[in-house]
Amino acid sequence: MAYFDNAATTQISDNALRAYVEASKTVWGNPSSLHQEGRKAHARLEEDRTEIARLLGVSSSTLTFTSCATESDGIILESLLWAVNPGHVIIPAFEHSALTGYVRLLRQKGWKVDEVDAPNGYLDPDEIGALVNEKTRLVCCMLVNNVLGTIQPVKEIVRKIREKETQYGRAIHVHTDATQALGKIPFSLTELDVDSAAFSAHKIHGPKGVGLLYNRDRSITALSRGGEQEKALRPGTENLPGIEAMTVAVRDCVEQLPQHTRMLKALNDLVRQRLSACPHITILTPVQASSPAILNITNDRLPSEVLTRMLYDKGYCVSSGSACSNNAKGHNGAVLRAAHASSDSARGSIRISFGSTTTKEETEGLCDTLLDILGEH
Ligand code: PLP
Repeated sequence: MAYFDNAATTQISDNALRAYVEASKTVWGNPSSLHQEGRKAHARLEEDRTEIARLLGVSSSTLTFTSCATESDGIILESLLWAVNPGHVIIPAFEHSALTGYVRLLRQKGWKVDEVDAPNGYLDPDEIGALVNEKTRLVCCMLVNNVLGTIQPVKEIVRKIREKETQYGRAIHVHTDATQALGKIPFSLTELDVDSAAFSAHKIHGPKGVGLLYNRDRSITALSRGGEQEKALRPGTENLPGIEAMTVAVRDCVEQLPQHTRMLKALNDLVRQRLSACPHITILTPVQASSPAILNITNDRLPSEVLTRMLYDKGYCVSSGSACSNNAKGHNGAVLRAAHASSDSARGSIRISFGSTTTKEETEGLCDTLLDILGEH
């Protein structure tokens, strides 16, 4: 099988797996225990936090270890539900379901939710700035869209929001879901000036079941109660082997970013070039301001599920939607609708996503197979 679904998940790297096994064997104590095993585990946990903070260029006190990006997103959104006076929130319609899944709940609790579109895959900072009002408490803007790969103008959006903060004299929390950005594009959380950000280890060749929340807003509250771990923002015994392996994965992807993006771009360019001659294919992901790791294409011959299945039968894994959603087609369709793609485009769309393990030969094979299938039907 040639795997082109790295935006759904990646294969764990040897380095990360080694760290996981080593930590499982040698630092298996509970970081909250006061005996020697516990202290050893606690020390490693804090070393990991310091190392990830260094790699991301932030203070270690802003980092919370979570179980996944969905949980990191959930901690921020769920905090709103506890507010005594519901206000206004902006959740773009093409965000991951970890965020859009809160829209109905927030409305039930009396919040006004604006679900803005992203024409051609991009949020408009002026549109978002114009929607912000004296009741706005939170604005979400993902850094890289997981279906189209488009890089959002987060810095410009935050600038507009900070102007409104000054005007209204109260803080507005800006959250970015950076799950598809880490290791794929250069960015600085400090320069983006966001209040919080979500990350996931399994998207960067780390293990499943471990994620990260960057948060500098003290009003954010926990999803679950009971323990004091992670300053009570994420109670529950920490997944130290997972965190150790995530630290290695973050280090590898940050340190190898220039080479990695060059390699991803070469594969991305190869597919664009090989498919551009096919009259049945349209590339939906714009060339500029897009992650090199994601390429969304559509075709006018076969529905996406049929094409995905035929590619699978010939040894190629691609995606017809977001693997995180039970209703994958629904999520993909919602994102493409928010991007103002036609319903025909949405029907034939597939996502090809590259990773560190993708080879040029596999990519050429995918292009040949796609061209064969669409030529035959
Ligand atoms: N956010 C984005 C943008 C994603 O692409 C994904 C996974 O597809 C998630 C959140 C959820 O990540 P996790 O599986 O770590 O919960």
